[in-house]
Amino acid sequence: MRFSEILYWAREVMFAADLHSLPINPFFVCNNLYIQVVSYTEARSYGFTEIIEKINRVDVDGFCYKGDGDSYIIFYDDARTPKARINFTIAHELGHIALGHLKNVSMRPRYMTNRKNDPQEREADTFAGELIRPPIPFVFTGCTRIDDIQSVCNITYEAATVCSKLVQKMQERRDNPYYSSDFRFYHEQFFDFLYAKYCGHCRHMFVGADAKFCPVCGNEHLHWYNERLPILVLVADGLEGGLVVKYKEYPVNAQNQVLRCIRCDNEDLRPEDRYCKICSAPVYNYCAGRYFVSPHGDRVLAVDQACGAPLPSNARYCTHCGGVSAFYHAQLLSDWQSESPPIELPEPPEESTDFDIFG
Ligand SMILES: [Zn+2]
Ligand SMILES: [Zn+2]
Ligand SMILES: [Zn+2]
Ligand SMILES: [Zn+2]
Repeated sequence: MRFSEILYWAREVMFAADLHSLPINPFFVCNNLYIQVVSYTEARSYGFTEIIEKINRVDVDGFCYKGDGDSYIIFYDDARTPKARINFTIAHELGHIALGHLKNVSMRPRYMTNRKNDPQEREADTFAGELIRPPIPFVFTGCTRIDDIQSVCNITYEAATVCSKLVQKMQERRDNPYYSSDFRFYHEQFFDFLYAKYCGHCRHMFVGADAKFCPVCGNEHLHWYNERLPILVLVADGLEGGLVVKYKEYPVNAQNQVLRCIRCDNEDLRPEDRYCKICSAPVYNYCAGRYFVSPHGDRVLAVDQACGAPLPSNARYCTHCGGVSAFYHAQLLSDWQSESPPIELPEPPEESTDFDIFG
Protein backbone atom coordinates (compact mmCIF):
# COMPACT_ATOMS: atom_id res chain seq x y z
CA MET A 1 0.00 0.00 0.00
CA ARG A 2 1.32 3.43 -0.88
CA PHE A 3 2.24 5.87 1.87
CA SER A 4 -0.19 8.52 0.60
CA GLU A 5 -2.97 5.94 0.58
CA ILE A 6 -2.42 5.18 4.27
CA LEU A 7 -2.54 8.90 5.09
CA TYR A 8 -5.72 9.13 3.04
CA TRP A 9 -7.41 6.46 5.15
CA ALA A 10 -6.29 8.06 8.41
CA ARG A 11 -7.94 11.30 7.26
CA GLU A 12 -11.06 9.46 6.13
CA VAL A 13 -11.34 8.17 9.69
CA MET A 14 -10.93 11.74 11.05
CA PHE A 15 -13.67 12.88 8.71
CA ALA A 16 -16.02 9.98 9.48
CA ALA A 17 -15.50 10.30 13.24
CA ASP A 18 -16.06 14.07 13.04
CA LEU A 19 -12.67 15.03 14.51
CA HIS A 20 -11.76 18.71 14.34
CA SER A 21 -9.00 19.13 16.88
CA LEU A 22 -6.11 17.52 18.73
CA PRO A 23 -5.57 15.53 20.85
CA ILE A 24 -7.29 12.59 19.21
CA ASN A 25 -8.84 10.17 21.65
CA PRO A 26 -8.84 6.76 19.89
CA PHE A 27 -11.46 5.40 22.31
CA PHE A 28 -13.78 8.18 21.19
CA VAL A 29 -12.97 7.51 17.52
CA CYS A 30 -13.78 3.79 17.87
CA ASN A 31 -16.99 4.63 19.68
CA ASN A 32 -18.03 6.93 16.81
CA LEU A 33 -17.25 4.20 14.30
CA TYR A 34 -19.11 1.51 16.30
CA ILE A 35 -15.94 -0.44 16.99
CA GLN A 36 -15.89 -2.03 20.41
CA VAL A 37 -12.78 -1.51 22.52
CA VAL A 38 -12.25 -4.00 25.33
CA SER A 39 -9.43 -4.06 27.89
CA TYR A 40 -7.79 -7.36 28.83
CA THR A 41 -9.28 -6.97 32.32
CA GLU A 42 -12.78 -6.63 30.87
CA ALA A 43 -12.15 -9.45 28.39
CA ARG A 44 -11.25 -11.83 31.19
CA SER A 45 -14.53 -11.12 32.93
CA TYR A 46 -16.39 -11.67 29.64
CA GLY A 47 -15.03 -15.22 29.37
CA PHE A 48 -12.13 -14.56 26.99
CA THR A 49 -9.65 -15.64 29.70
CA GLU A 50 -8.03 -18.38 27.70
CA ILE A 51 -7.20 -16.28 24.66
CA ILE A 52 -5.98 -13.35 26.77
CA GLU A 53 -3.61 -15.63 28.71
CA LYS A 54 -2.25 -17.03 25.47
CA ILE A 55 -1.79 -13.54 24.02
CA ASN A 56 -0.13 -12.27 27.19
CA ARG A 57 2.47 -15.03 27.00
CA VAL A 58 3.77 -13.68 23.68
CA ASP A 59 3.74 -10.07 24.91
CA VAL A 60 1.08 -8.46 22.75
CA ASP A 61 -0.22 -5.09 23.88
CA GLY A 62 -3.28 -5.20 21.68
CA PHE A 63 -5.04 -7.07 18.91
CA CYS A 64 -8.20 -6.85 16.93
CA TYR A 65 -10.85 -9.38 16.24
CA LYS A 66 -13.26 -9.56 13.34
CA GLY A 67 -16.74 -10.74 14.21
CA ASP A 68 -19.74 -11.33 11.97
CA GLY A 69 -20.09 -9.07 8.96
CA ASP A 70 -18.18 -5.83 9.47
CA SER A 71 -18.11 -5.86 13.26
CA TYR A 72 -14.75 -5.52 14.98
CA ILE A 73 -13.48 -5.65 18.52
CA ILE A 74 -10.15 -4.16 19.61
CA PHE A 75 -8.57 -5.70 22.69
CA TYR A 76 -5.82 -3.86 24.55
CA ASP A 77 -3.61 -4.43 27.54
CA ASP A 78 -4.79 -1.89 30.12
CA ALA A 79 -1.82 -2.71 32.37
CA ARG A 80 0.59 -0.95 29.98
CA THR A 81 2.00 2.46 30.75
CA PRO A 82 2.14 5.25 29.88
CA LYS A 83 -1.45 5.89 28.87
CA ALA A 84 -0.22 7.55 25.66
CA ARG A 85 1.14 4.18 24.56
CA ILE A 86 -2.30 2.59 24.96
CA ASN A 87 -3.72 5.34 22.74
CA PHE A 88 -1.16 4.50 20.08
CA THR A 89 -1.95 0.77 20.32
CA ILE A 90 -5.68 1.40 19.78
CA ALA A 91 -4.93 3.71 16.84
CA HIS A 92 -2.64 1.03 15.40
CA GLU A 93 -5.35 -1.65 15.66
CA LEU A 94 -7.84 0.78 14.14
CA GLY A 95 -5.33 1.11 11.29
CA HIS A 96 -5.49 -2.64 10.61
CA ILE A 97 -9.28 -2.36 10.37
CA ALA A 98 -9.32 0.80 8.23
CA LEU A 99 -6.61 -0.49 5.89
CA GLY A 100 -8.46 -3.75 5.29
CA HIS A 101 -5.85 -6.03 6.90
CA LEU A 102 -8.54 -8.17 8.48
CA LYS A 103 -10.38 -8.93 5.27
CA ASN A 104 -9.26 -12.54 5.11
CA VAL A 105 -8.28 -13.23 8.70
CA SER A 106 -10.33 -13.03 11.84
CA MET A 107 -7.59 -11.87 14.18
CA ARG A 108 -4.40 -9.82 14.14
CA PRO A 109 -2.30 -9.72 17.27
CA ARG A 110 0.16 -6.91 17.63
CA TYR A 111 3.51 -8.47 18.41
CA MET A 112 5.95 -6.09 19.98
CA THR A 113 8.88 -8.07 18.58
CA ASN A 114 9.75 -8.56 14.91
CA ARG A 115 6.97 -6.33 13.73
CA LYS A 116 9.41 -4.08 11.90
CA ASN A 117 9.68 -6.76 9.22
CA ASP A 118 5.96 -7.03 8.63
CA PRO A 119 4.73 -4.50 6.05
CA GLN A 120 1.19 -4.51 7.48
CA GLU A 121 2.58 -3.65 10.91
CA ARG A 122 4.47 -0.70 9.46
CA GLU A 123 1.34 0.41 7.61
CA ALA A 124 -0.72 0.30 10.79
CA ASP A 125 2.00 2.32 12.56
CA THR A 126 1.98 4.93 9.79
CA PHE A 127 -1.80 5.14 10.05
CA ALA A 128 -1.66 5.52 13.84
CA GLY A 129 0.99 8.24 13.54
CA GLU A 130 -1.09 10.31 11.16
CA LEU A 131 -4.16 9.91 13.34
CA ILE A 132 -2.52 10.68 16.71
CA ARG A 133 0.20 13.20 15.76
CA PRO A 134 -0.43 14.59 12.26
CA PRO A 135 2.42 17.00 11.36
CA ILE A 136 0.50 19.37 9.06
CA PRO A 137 -1.50 21.16 11.80
CA PHE A 138 1.83 22.16 13.37
CA VAL A 139 3.07 23.55 10.06
CA PHE A 140 -0.03 25.78 9.95
CA THR A 141 0.27 26.97 13.54
CA GLY A 142 4.04 27.39 13.54
CA CYS A 143 4.16 25.36 16.73
CA THR A 144 7.29 23.22 16.34
CA ARG A 145 8.71 22.70 19.83
CA ILE A 146 8.72 19.05 20.88
CA ASP A 147 7.31 19.88 24.34
CA ASP A 148 4.42 21.76 22.77
CA ILE A 149 3.65 18.96 20.30
CA GLN A 150 3.76 16.44 23.13
CA SER A 151 1.20 18.40 25.18
CA VAL A 152 -1.09 19.27 22.29
CA CYS A 153 -1.25 15.67 21.01
CA ASN A 154 -1.06 14.05 24.46
CA ILE A 155 1.67 11.67 23.29
CA THR A 156 5.05 10.47 24.55
CA TYR A 157 8.17 12.63 24.11
CA GLU A 158 9.53 10.07 21.63
CA ALA A 159 6.41 10.27 19.47
CA ALA A 160 6.54 14.07 19.63
CA THR A 161 10.17 13.99 18.46
CA VAL A 162 9.16 11.93 15.42
CA CYS A 163 6.34 14.38 14.73
CA SER A 164 8.59 17.44 14.97
CA LYS A 165 10.91 15.93 12.33
CA LEU A 166 7.92 15.37 10.06
CA VAL A 167 6.83 18.96 10.69
CA GLN A 168 10.20 20.19 9.37
CA LYS A 169 9.81 18.01 6.30
CA MET A 170 6.26 19.21 5.63
CA GLN A 171 7.28 22.86 6.10
CA GLU A 172 9.40 22.53 2.99
CA ARG A 173 6.48 21.04 1.09
CA ARG A 174 3.93 23.67 2.04
CA ASP A 175 4.04 25.41 -1.33
CA ASN A 176 4.54 22.24 -3.36
CA PRO A 177 1.34 21.67 -5.40
CA TYR A 178 1.79 17.91 -5.03
CA TYR A 179 0.89 18.24 -1.34
CA SER A 180 -1.83 20.88 -1.64
CA SER A 181 -4.67 18.42 -0.98
CA ASP A 182 -2.92 17.24 2.21
CA PHE A 183 -2.74 20.81 3.50
CA ARG A 184 -6.27 21.60 2.31
CA PHE A 185 -7.68 18.68 4.29
CA TYR A 186 -6.41 20.07 7.61
CA HIS A 187 -7.22 23.65 6.63
CA GLU A 188 -10.88 22.64 6.28
CA GLN A 189 -11.26 19.86 8.84
CA PHE A 190 -9.30 21.63 11.63
CA PHE A 191 -10.17 25.25 10.76
CA ASP A 192 -11.24 26.53 14.21
CA PHE A 193 -8.42 24.62 15.86
CA LEU A 194 -5.69 25.91 13.52
CA TYR A 195 -6.78 29.54 13.35
CA ALA A 196 -7.61 30.14 17.01
CA LYS A 197 -5.62 33.28 17.88
CA TYR A 198 -4.73 34.80 21.19
CA CYS A 199 -3.71 38.34 22.04
CA GLY A 200 -1.61 38.47 25.21
CA HIS A 201 -2.17 42.23 25.46
CA CYS A 202 -5.98 42.33 25.89
CA ARG A 203 -6.51 38.56 26.37
CA HIS A 204 -8.92 38.29 23.48
CA MET A 205 -9.29 34.90 21.77
CA PHE A 206 -10.78 34.63 18.31
CA VAL A 207 -10.70 32.54 15.14
CA GLY A 208 -9.30 34.16 11.99
CA ALA A 209 -7.35 32.53 9.17
CA ASP A 210 -5.67 35.70 7.84
CA ALA A 211 -5.82 37.89 10.94
CA LYS A 212 -2.64 39.90 11.50
CA PHE A 213 -3.94 42.31 14.15
CA CYS A 214 -6.02 41.84 17.28
CA PRO A 215 -9.55 43.15 16.54
CA VAL A 216 -10.01 44.35 20.12
CA CYS A 217 -6.76 46.23 20.89
CA GLY A 218 -4.97 46.37 17.52
CA ASN A 219 -1.89 44.51 18.82
CA GLU A 220 0.18 42.94 16.06
CA HIS A 221 1.62 40.05 18.09
CA LEU A 222 -0.88 37.23 17.90
CA HIS A 223 -0.23 33.66 18.95
CA TRP A 224 -1.83 30.34 18.33
CA TYR A 225 -4.37 29.65 21.05
CA ASN A 226 -4.37 26.14 22.46
CA GLU A 227 -5.24 25.50 26.07
CA ARG A 228 -2.81 22.59 26.24
CA LEU A 229 0.28 24.64 25.31
CA PRO A 230 2.56 24.63 28.38
CA ILE A 231 3.06 28.42 28.22
CA LEU A 232 -0.70 29.06 28.24
CA VAL A 233 -1.22 26.56 31.05
CA LEU A 234 1.39 28.49 33.03
CA VAL A 235 -0.19 31.87 32.32
CA ALA A 236 -3.69 30.53 33.11
CA ASP A 237 -2.43 29.37 36.51
CA GLY A 238 -1.11 32.85 37.24
CA LEU A 239 -4.35 34.48 36.13
CA GLU A 240 -6.58 32.19 38.17
CA GLY A 241 -8.73 31.18 35.20
CA GLY A 242 -8.81 34.59 33.54
CA LEU A 243 -6.78 33.62 30.49
CA VAL A 244 -9.46 34.79 28.07
CA VAL A 245 -11.52 37.97 28.44
CA LYS A 246 -14.95 37.85 26.77
CA TYR A 247 -15.57 41.14 24.96
CA LYS A 248 -19.23 41.86 24.38
CA GLU A 249 -20.53 40.92 20.95
CA TYR A 250 -23.71 42.11 19.25
CA PRO A 251 -25.83 39.69 17.20
CA VAL A 252 -25.53 40.14 13.43
CA ASN A 253 -27.29 38.58 10.42
CA ALA A 254 -25.65 36.61 7.60
CA GLN A 255 -24.73 39.91 5.90
CA ASN A 256 -22.91 41.10 9.05
CA GLN A 257 -25.57 43.75 9.83
CA VAL A 258 -26.47 44.13 13.51
CA LEU A 259 -30.01 43.00 14.38
CA ARG A 260 -30.53 46.10 16.55
CA CYS A 261 -28.81 49.45 16.50
CA ILE A 262 -26.08 49.34 19.14
CA ARG A 263 -26.69 52.94 20.18
CA CYS A 264 -30.53 53.29 20.26
CA ASP A 265 -31.76 49.66 20.04
CA ASN A 266 -33.80 50.37 16.89
CA GLU A 267 -34.58 47.03 15.19
CA ASP A 268 -36.24 48.41 12.07
CA LEU A 269 -33.22 47.94 9.79
CA ARG A 270 -33.40 47.12 6.08
CA PRO A 271 -30.52 45.34 4.35
CA GLU A 272 -29.66 48.46 2.32
CA ASP A 273 -29.42 50.64 5.43
CA ARG A 274 -25.80 51.51 6.16
CA TYR A 275 -26.80 53.70 9.11
CA CYS A 276 -29.61 53.65 11.68
CA LYS A 277 -32.35 55.99 10.52
CA ILE A 278 -33.14 57.05 14.10
CA CYS A 279 -29.69 57.92 15.43
CA SER A 280 -27.39 57.59 12.34
CA ALA A 281 -25.06 55.05 13.96
CA PRO A 282 -23.39 52.62 11.53
CA VAL A 283 -25.09 49.20 11.45
CA TYR A 284 -22.30 47.31 9.65
CA ASN A 285 -18.86 47.03 11.20
CA TYR A 286 -15.98 47.31 8.73
CA CYS A 287 -12.52 48.80 8.37
CA ALA A 288 -13.24 52.54 8.22
CA GLY A 289 -9.79 54.10 7.94
CA ARG A 290 -6.77 55.21 9.92
CA TYR A 291 -6.36 57.99 12.46
CA PHE A 292 -3.84 60.75 12.01
CA VAL A 293 -3.33 64.03 13.83
CA SER A 294 -4.07 67.15 11.80
CA PRO A 295 -1.84 70.29 11.94
CA HIS A 296 -4.44 71.74 14.37
CA GLY A 297 -3.89 68.80 16.72
CA ASP A 298 -7.23 67.03 16.15
CA ARG A 299 -7.60 63.34 15.48
CA VAL A 300 -8.85 62.85 11.91
CA LEU A 301 -9.99 59.65 10.22
CA ALA A 302 -8.29 59.09 6.84
CA VAL A 303 -11.01 57.12 5.11
CA ASP A 304 -8.91 56.67 1.97
CA GLN A 305 -6.67 54.36 4.00
CA ALA A 306 -9.49 51.93 4.84
CA CYS A 307 -9.28 48.43 3.42
CA GLY A 308 -13.05 48.07 3.93
CA ALA A 309 -12.90 44.50 5.29
CA PRO A 310 -16.03 43.41 7.19
CA LEU A 311 -15.29 42.98 10.91
CA PRO A 312 -16.87 41.25 13.92
CA SER A 313 -19.26 43.38 15.98
CA ASN A 314 -16.77 43.78 18.85
CA ALA A 315 -13.81 44.76 16.64
CA ARG A 316 -12.24 48.14 17.37
CA TYR A 317 -9.51 47.49 14.82
CA CYS A 318 -9.19 45.84 11.43
CA THR A 319 -7.66 42.36 11.67
CA HIS A 320 -6.11 42.74 8.18
CA CYS A 321 -4.54 46.21 8.19
CA GLY A 322 -4.84 47.44 11.79
CA GLY A 323 -7.13 50.33 10.75
CA VAL A 324 -9.99 51.68 12.87
CA SER A 325 -13.44 50.03 12.77
CA ALA A 326 -16.65 51.89 11.95
CA PHE A 327 -18.19 50.97 15.32
CA TYR A 328 -15.17 52.17 17.27
CA HIS A 329 -14.92 55.42 15.32
CA ALA A 330 -18.66 56.05 15.96
CA GLN A 331 -18.00 55.39 19.67
CA LEU A 332 -20.44 52.47 19.75
CA LEU A 333 -17.59 50.47 21.29
CA SER A 334 -15.54 51.80 24.16
CA ASP A 335 -11.79 51.35 24.62
CA TRP A 336 -11.05 47.70 25.36
CA GLN A 337 -9.57 48.56 28.78
CA SER A 338 -13.04 49.45 30.08
CA GLU A 339 -14.19 45.87 29.47
CA SER A 340 -11.04 44.21 30.75
CA PRO A 341 -10.03 44.37 34.40
CA PRO A 342 -6.32 45.30 34.64
CA ILE A 343 -4.20 42.37 35.72
CA GLU A 344 -0.54 41.80 36.52
CA LEU A 345 0.75 39.25 34.05
CA PRO A 346 3.36 36.82 35.36
CA GLU A 347 6.76 36.84 33.68
CA PRO A 348 7.11 34.05 31.10
CA PRO A 349 9.90 31.55 31.89
CA GLU A 350 13.32 32.24 30.32
CA GLU A 351 13.32 29.23 28.01
CA SER A 352 10.09 30.15 26.27
CA THR A 353 11.18 33.51 24.90
CA ASP A 354 10.71 32.06 21.40
CA PHE A 355 7.04 31.78 22.24
CA ASP A 356 6.43 35.14 23.88
CA ILE A 357 2.68 35.61 24.15
CA PHE A 358 2.86 39.03 25.75
CA GLY A 359 4.01 40.86 22.66
ZN1 LIG B 1 -0.42 -4.70 14.24
ZN1 LIG C 1 -5.70 42.45 21.79
ZN1 LIG D 1 -29.82 53.94 16.26
ZN1 LIG E 1 -8.43 47.26 7.15
